[in-house]
Amino acid sequence: MRRIMFKISGEAMSGEKEFGFDDKVLNDICEQIKLALKEKIEVSVLLGGGNFIRGRDIAEIDKYRADQIGMLSTVMNGIYFKELLKQNNIKSSLYSSFKCDGIVDLFDKDNAEVDLKNGVVVLFVGGTGHPYFTTDTGVVLRALELDCTEVLLAKSIDAVYDDDPKINKSAKRYDKITYDEILNKNLKVVDLSSITLAKDNNLKLHIFSLNEKDAIKRAMLGEKIGTIICGG
Ligand code: UDP
Repeated sequence: MRRIMFKISGEAMSGEKEFGFDDKVLNDICEQIKLALKEKIEVSVLLGGGNFIRGRDIAEIDKYRADQIGMLSTVMNGIYFKELLKQNNIKSSLYSSFKCDGIVDLFDKDNAEVDLKNGVVVLFVGGTGHPYFTTDTGVVLRALELDCTEVLLAKSIDAVYDDDPKINKSAKRYDKITYDEILNKNLKVVDLSSITLAKDNNLKLHIFSLNEKDAIKRAMLGEKIGTIICGG
């Protein structure tokens, strides 16, 4: 049985609107999740929060508190995406890394695994539950906790490059790159803490852009799009 962890960043949630929700993008994601479920793939999704606010955007207050506000953004995204899955007749459950009594259940590995085995899409919010991290690390952490075989990261960029391709037209694009190369070259496509965690546990990460047609479906079905980050 394949068990996939998929991260939808806040940027992806808002699509062209740059704030809030873009239902067109989200309904398209729902359709692609349906196809994965049909293939008997177990699907879990971790939501980012950048479509509302990131801790680093509120430098006026203590970082600890700013990051808590950032984590709450991910909770709003989870509630909304669960509703869209429901409208698309997809069963889902929603778990938070911290207590949100009366709104979202607290993460529990056993409950999440039962859901996955029953074909329920499991949504995760709250990242790691700790300030000073981002949801890139949260998604690797949850994937390890749930024994996922792979992590799909839908980003605004289509692959890993050795420089910003918007600024440097001759930036090198990677189909495959090792954890060490990312760490040594200090490439910022994902948080380096998430790369270290993935490296320590030999968990493969797959980065691609949601702007490519059927990107999630293609990545889930093993097509070579974007960049694979692995041990070699
Ligand atoms: N955040 C945090 N700890 C975590 C995950 C997230 O403090 O484990 C906060 C942090 O402020 C971050 C915000 O929540 O900026 C939203 O997460 P992220 O920036 O990863 O969202 P994305 O860019 O993927 O939409």
